[in-house]
This record gives sequence, structure tokens and C-alpha cells, in this order.
Amino acid sequence: MPGSDATSCGILRVVAGAEQTEIGTGVQGMSDVRTGVYVCHCGSNIAEKVDCARVREFASELKNVVVARDYQYMCSEPGQELIRQDVEKNGINRVVVASCSPRMHEPTFRKTLETAGLNGYLLEMANIREHCSWVTTDREAATEKAAALVAGAVARVAFHEPLEERFADLKQRLLVVGGGIAGIEAALKVAAGGYQVTLVEKEPSIGGNMARLDKTFPTLDCSACILTPKMVAVAQSENVTLYTYAEVEKVEGYVGNFQVTIRQKARSVDTSKCTGCGVCYGKCPTRVPSEFDAGLGTRKAIYVPFPQAVPNKPVIDREHCLQFTKGKCGVCARFCPTGAIDYEQGDQLITEEFGAIIIATGYETWDPAAAPQWGYGRYDNVLTAMQLERLVNAAGPTKGKIQLQDGSTPEAVAILHCIGSRDENYHRYCSRFCCMSSLKLAHLAREKTGAEVYNFYIDLRAFGKGYEEFYNRVQEEGVHFIRGKGAEVIRKDGRLAVRAEDTLLGRYREVPVDMVVLNTAAVPRRDSEKVGQVFGIQPSPDGFFLEAHVKLEPLKTATDGIYIAGCCQGPKDIPDSVAQGAGAASEVLSLFAAGKVKISPVVATVDSQLCSGCRVCLPLCPYSAISYDEVNRTAYVNEATCKGCGTCVASCPSGALSVRHFTDEEIIAQIKEVLAV
Ligand code: SF4
Ligand code: SF4
Ligand code: SF4
Ligand code: SF4
Repeated sequence: MPGSDATSCGILRVVAGAEQTEIGTGVQGMSDVRTGVYVCHCGSNIAEKVDCARVREFASELKNVVVARDYQYMCSEPGQELIRQDVEKNGINRVVVASCSPRMHEPTFRKTLETAGLNGYLLEMANIREHCSWVTTDREAATEKAAALVAGAVARVAFHEPLEERFADLKQRLLVVGGGIAGIEAALKVAAGGYQVTLVEKEPSIGGNMARLDKTFPTLDCSACILTPKMVAVAQSENVTLYTYAEVEKVEGYVGNFQVTIRQKARSVDTSKCTGCGVCYGKCPTRVPSEFDAGLGTRKAIYVPFPQAVPNKPVIDREHCLQFTKGKCGVCARFCPTGAIDYEQGDQLITEEFGAIIIATGYETWDPAAAPQWGYGRYDNVLTAMQLERLVNAAGPTKGKIQLQDGSTPEAVAILHCIGSRDENYHRYCSRFCCMSSLKLAHLAREKTGAEVYNFYIDLRAFGKGYEEFYNRVQEEGVHFIRGKGAEVIRKDGRLAVRAEDTLLGRYREVPVDMVVLNTAAVPRRDSEKVGQVFGIQPSPDGFFLEAHVKLEPLKTATDGIYIAGCCQGPKDIPDSVAQGAGAASEVLSLFAAGKVKISPVVATVDSQLCSGCRVCLPLCPYSAISYDEVNRTAYVNEATCKGCGTCVASCPSGALSVRHFTDEEIIAQIKEVLAV
């Protein structure tokens, strides 16, 4: 086959511009199947490695093929028009497009078939780009494989039945998981559209990491000043129900109809009685390190994490409260003027229904104690960037004073970029916002202390709007930039010193300083694996949640109706997190506006005559789509929930299950043809 230039007998060749068209002799074999094959060049993406003309000629000789064409861009309007014309003029009733992955353009070509009057499911795609041209430099091998895939697709499409898409009702209610800036933005946008939103946050307050920052780059706005109005808007919105100190425990159902169980953890405070007066935490005798202040300050056992918290109601940390650990104290209950303290309060399970879910669970920062070379946890005055944020903040543990452990002001500060990021030993990815946050901290440290500030960097990535200008400003302020990763922090002569290779000067340097700030990698939250399991969403290799398509569907996941936004998808700065929150909201608003959801007909079916009722398949379905029909004693597939993954089919000992368009005869026909080439 490909290799031979011979055209098949009876082929009519039409040359139209650069395009060559071949029309076969007519239907062979299955009398009612008339297949058109369209081989796409994808510009040079495919054509450079695959001889598209040879594949087209080969296809023209396959059983049932009446038309075979190759064209530069099949997904373009003229490319699609070729198919429409062939349906009309050549009566084709099956279509094979040999091009890119079906994940990319299957919906495009289904639509093409529909506009031509054919059922959109009478289509089969052969992936000759990702599976052929992109995976080899051998043109002959790529062409041969492309021909084999086309032969398989032609054999398989002959068995395709027209399938009808169906629609299910949709609950126009949104669940947002995570109350950082991305989740807040998403919740407010959808609520503004008039839809009910439930926002679940596992901490006692919404606000996320942004609430802990002092200023935001490059404009140096106060973080709380721009975040607090949005937090208050969430609290005041009639369309938003807020559950803080709560977690999603179970998710069932499918797009449009999710049943979600939320665990409201016991606050030990009756929020309907609490006025937020603060008497209780003023009196509580127990102090523990404050998570909000990154361990630098303390909080009480009953506490509100920060002054602008929403809701501004305290929670008792039962792990440290004397009433819970020792069985005696009760001070807060004694002093609370409204009787709001409730030591007996238990967790509550709340079940609600939602049409869509946005996950915006954010990120954590990497703990540099895992890497002793940077001295964190070993030497005084080695801090993380978040700790410096809290020191700089007027509401922080030093009321905004940057000071050393002995209370003095540092004369020299080193800020080390990329600690744990862009590092083969820890995390290979770039954490994206650390360059700019390091510049901001350098500016603040210099402004507040007048210290000499040294930034150690690999490259400076000042990619956003106004970022390069901010970099220039910080340079003009006299901050020193040393192009070389801070390799080691040592104690020397009663001070600290940073060792690095200055790659611009080409020499080793050792810079004495009083304070070292490690700008550490953004990492997935430690419970992200569990969250992924609850929602049925997958992680990327870096551990952040995987998007449906990295470029074209960055907010969707593989599970319809579940979206991701903000840093749970990967590190990003505040503008990008806000944009993603708003973007995910727009996905949900489009879904809700449609008022119904499309259900794919490519799902599993049960042959009740063959099903023995053994129930082997039930626990294996990753989407819980199979139940047992007690009356008929057979398995039953919920077509709205089934994703057509085929797991159940492989498990059924009776051969009772099959997935439409993936029947045994289709797959066997496809394999036979592929192997025959
Ligand atoms: Fe609320 Fe009572 Fe504490 Fe005041 S003393 S903040 S009313 S729990
Ligand atoms: Fe603090 Fe617990 Fe005592 Fe209340 S009962 S004052 S939270 S230690
Ligand atoms: Fe029926 Fe097969 Fe499921 Fe057993 S595994 S219940 S036979 S469909
Ligand atoms: Fe579940 Fe089977 Fe559908 Fe896969 S094909 S989602 S295992 S019912």
C-alpha cells in the first residue's frame, strides 16, 4: 500500500487548485454504507511526516469508500464544506476524518455532519497527528501507520449507528469549594447572575492566602483593602450561602444534578447567638502558634483568624482548648455575654443539590525545612516569604516592623528566589509569582528598614502588566540583584551569609546578611489527592488539578460540570486567579443559561438477556453509574452518569455489557484492518 503510487482502477482524479480529489468506483461490500475519507495535512504538522496523498490514494481503495480527499486544513470552513458537498453530491453516509486527536475536533466534525443532514455520530476519526506525525521522524513509518489507522477507522465506522443526544434537567445552583480570591470571584459573578451559590471553605474564614499578604505587586495596593470588600460582598449577598469551617465529604450524580454532602465541623460557637464581640478570645488563657501568621505570632484556643475575617465569629480549636483536652476551663463560656459557646456542638452533615461545581482550593507553600542547606529551622532569622509578609503587615505579630529575633533592625537582607521551584530535587515547575513577590518584598524591606537588600535569582520573570516597570523601579531604589541561585545559607561571624555562584560575574560569592528570606515553591494542598478523589478529578504530574485541555479548556476538568480555578490548577498570581475565577463563573453561567445538559449517547448498555445479575460491574464503575435492578435482577446503567469508559464491559463475565460504538464487532473489525496493512 503506501509506497505504491498506483491509483486504483476506475478512480476519477479531479485536480482543483492544490487539492486532489479522487472518487472511487462506488460502494463495495455493505451496500448501504458509503464512506468519505478526509486526510488532513494540518498545515505541515501532519504533511511534513505523513505522505497525505498516498494515504488518500490508499483509502480510496478501501471497502465502502466512495470518496477520499486530502486537504490542508480539514477543520477550516472550506475543509468542512468538502464533507458537506460529498454528503449532498456523492451520498456519503459515513465519514472518516484522519487528522488530529478527537479530543480536539470531534465536536467540530460532528457538527459538520449535522449541518449536512447526517447524524453526527456516523463519524470516526483517525489520529494521524499525535499518533503518527508527531511521534516519529521516519516519514515512511508515519505514512504506513497513518494508512493503517485510516483502514481501521473505515472498517469501524461501517458499524456505527446513528445515536441521539438527550438532554437532562439542570439544577441552577452552584457549589464553589474554596474561599480564596478565585473562589470568591467565581461565587460573586454567578450570584450576580441571579443564581444561588453555596461557598464552602475549610478554614474558619474566607480570604485564602491573599488575606495574609501585606501589599500586592506591582501597584502596592494593600491586599486587605482590595480583598475585604469582596469578602464582605460574599457575606452580604442574598444569593450566596457560606459554610466556613466545612468540607465537602461526598459527591454523587452528574453535570446538572450533583448531590453533595457537606460536613459542617463543630465551631463550638453558636453563630446565630454570637455577636463577634471578642470577649471570649480576650479571656482565653491558651495561646498556640498562629497559622495565619505563619507561626510567628500566637492566637488563642478560641479565635478569629484575622481582624477582617468573614464571618467574624470565633471557633474553638478543640485540639488545644483546655475544656476539651483537660476537661476544665470554661472561661469563654463564663464570659460570653450571649451564651454562644457550645462545647456540646457536633459536626453537621448537610446534603444539597447543585448543577455545577467550581473547585478553587488554592495552594500551599513548600516547607523549606526539608532542605537543610538553606538553614530554615536551623538558624534564627531565616524566614519564608510568607513570614516576611506577616512581619510587614500592620496587623501582623510585630505590627508591621521588620525585625530580627532580638528585636533589632536588619542592616542587610537576602531574598532567595526559586527555593524548591525550578529545581530537579524538589519541584521542576516555576511557581510564577515568586519573582514578583520577591521584588515587592525587596521594596518593602528597603523602604521599612533602609537595609541593603540582595535578591538572588536564576532568571527574573517579570511577565505581567506593569511588572517590568516595577522591576526597574526596585532596581532604581538600590536593591542589589545577583544572578545566581542562593545555594547555601551559613552562619559566619555571628551573622548569616548566602553562598551563590554569580553567573554574570562568573565567580563564587558569599554575601553576609542579617536576615534571609526564602521565597518557596507554591505546592498543591496536602489534601488535594483526597479532594480529587471526592470530586473525581485527576492531578497533573506536578500534583495540581488537571484541566480538560491545557490551552483551550483550562477551566474544565474531565468530569462535566466540574471546573477548576486559581492556584489549585497551578501556581498563578492574583490577576490570573481573578481571571480564572471569573472565567469559571462564565462557564457556569453559560451552562445555567442553557437550562439543560446534553448527555452523550456513547454509553454502556446492558443486555438483560445475558446479564446474570452477578453485580461484578457495580463497584468497578468509577462514576457509580451502575446500579442493580432488583425487580428485573439485572445491572442497570444510568446513561446520564456513564462516561462510556468501558471498565464495566471488560469486567462482565457474561458479556452482557457493551458501550455504543465500541462493540466487540467494531473493535475487532478495526483491529483486523489495522493489522492487515
Ligand atoms: Fe461571640 Fe460570645 Fe465570643 Fe462574643 S464572647 S465573640 S458573643 S462567642
Ligand atoms: Fe480557651 Fe477553651 Fe478555655 Fe474557652 S474553654 S477559654 S477556648 S481554653
Ligand atoms: Fe450483569 Fe455483567 Fe454486571 Fe454481572 S457483570 S451484573 S452479568 S452486567
Ligand atoms: Fe461506568 Fe461502565 Fe459507563 Fe464506564 S462505561 S462509566 S464503568 S457504566
